[in-house]
Amino acid sequence: MGIDENKKARPLFEFVDVGREEPEKHSIESRQIEFKEIYQPLEQPRIKQQASRCLDCGNPYCQWKCPLHNYIPDWLNLASEGQFIQAAELAHQTNSLPEVCGRVCPQDRLCEQACTLNTGFGAVTIGQIEKFVTDNALAQGWRPDLSHIPEQPYRVAIVGAGPAGLGCADVLARSGIRSVVFDRQPEIGGLLTFGIPEFKLEKEVIQKRREVFESMGVEFRLNTLVGRDVTFEQLRSEYDAVFLGMGTYQAVAGGIEGERGKGVYKALDYLIGNTVKQQEWDYKEYPFIDLKDKKVVVLGGGDTAMDCVRTAIRQGAKQVICAYRRDEEAMPGSRREFNHAIEEGVEFQWYRQAQHIDLDGNGKVKAIEFDIKEPISQADGTVKLESSGRSEVIDTDAVIVAYGFKANPPQWLQDLGIELDNQSRVVATETNAYRTNLDKVYAGGDMVRGADLVVTAIADGRKAAQAICEDLEVFV
Ligand SMILES: Cc1cc2nc3c(=O)[nH]c(=O)nc-3n(C[C@H](O)[C@H](O)[C@H](O)COP(=O)(O)OP(=O)(O)OC[C@H]3O[C@@H](n4cnc5c(N)ncnc54)[C@H](O)[C@@H]3O)c2cc1C
Ligand code: SF4
Repeated sequence: MGIDENKKARPLFEFVDVGREEPEKHSIESRQIEFKEIYQPLEQPRIKQQASRCLDCGNPYCQWKCPLHNYIPDWLNLASEGQFIQAAELAHQTNSLPEVCGRVCPQDRLCEQACTLNTGFGAVTIGQIEKFVTDNALAQGWRPDLSHIPEQPYRVAIVGAGPAGLGCADVLARSGIRSVVFDRQPEIGGLLTFGIPEFKLEKEVIQKRREVFESMGVEFRLNTLVGRDVTFEQLRSEYDAVFLGMGTYQAVAGGIEGERGKGVYKALDYLIGNTVKQQEWDYKEYPFIDLKDKKVVVLGGGDTAMDCVRTAIRQGAKQVICAYRRDEEAMPGSRREFNHAIEEGVEFQWYRQAQHIDLDGNGKVKAIEFDIKEPISQADGTVKLESSGRSEVIDTDAVIVAYGFKANPPQWLQDLGIELDNQSRVVATETNAYRTNLDKVYAGGDMVRGADLVVTAIADGRKAAQAICEDLEVFV
């Protein structure tokens, strides 16, 4: 389907009469206890109306800002006409997981930030519409039709079933190349399943997507650790190419005295333990950490910290404080998720740099001490943080450290001579189409970029798949 064929005349100034409308959220009371997505579904007529607000600018900034360069104005146009299946078909031409991106992309700093209407009229609700058209199509039984694609005599091994690996598998399947995706976890999704909590992305969404991939001929070998259950050398000799999308999993330590005390947790251990409990999965590697009735301090200001504070609220913590060393403006995470945390009752403390965790006689956390920072404007316009000389002590029962993640490529990969940069990220640049220095080996996602976003990981996996096709001389 050509994208220009979809374009029909539409009212140009719809946005004047119809304002930006987000779906209603569930009540705060239910959000404070439920691990469910917080938005209520939008009905078709409202989706059509919201989609019709798009101006169809000659130069769609939203499309350029989206790391996948989605054909946003085109599928908005189809949605405005109620052609939801066609819209979903078009969305899948550039995105392997549109229903996921619609839910978890920080649209406020990507597509919607760039929307022309985001200049006082309210951006088009691009993410919500992307989510709706995909959920709707999948619920109606729509599946990608690959019957016209000739099967190629090649097989590709993909290590990691996160967004990067799935993006790669999707493009390969659409090119007639079979892939086998290996993952050490019992379910696909990477951090989508074992990281991001249900109130942002329900696990059923990934389970449904797994069925879609399987219907496209993608094979998943789960509970399989590459480097132990199967060697990398085996993969390289048995497959025509190998894509690595293994993520970054080494938690950045706080460097705080007392950090090893009882009651001090790593963010991902806390989040995964909670998901495993919610899903009733038999996955003993991640025990449940129960913060009910506890006073909790979370250190950090990114998406992971927001997920931790909101999880602690839902577990019934007595008080949840997020301490960040800069201010609200400087927080790296999505503004939307920060606002959700405020609504749900999280308290924020700015300019707090953790110094020391006090432990009781049993080695259990009892308080945390912060150095209070002061922002000092510099001559070059930047702001430097300096100690104010004051400190603050907060009594607490638990501390969660959410300072982000560092790349941690396995030793076997390093022994084979894969090129790494000075932050241990695999070198595989976009200009070289995510090829590594090892023959037939490609890489993308967090292990190449460092901890980043779902949408950028998908984009890397897709581009690497295109390079694999090019190198195997498969042109569909
Ligand atoms: C708590 C949290 C919340 C986040 N929230 C958001 C958000 O709201 N929006 C957003 O855009 N991004 C968010 N992110 C970031 C996003 O999840 C990641 O950038 C993205 O998942 C990276 O994708 P990936 O495929 O590179 O890696 P991952 O998703 O980490 O997937 C890597 C996969 O490789 C597997 N693997 C690793 N080594 C092996 C091995 N040796 N053998 C077999 N399998 C292996 C792992 O089990 C895993 O499944 C969040 C991250 C975290 C931690
Ligand atoms: S993938 Fe993300 S950035 Fe791109 S259109 Fe969808 S929500 Fe926006």
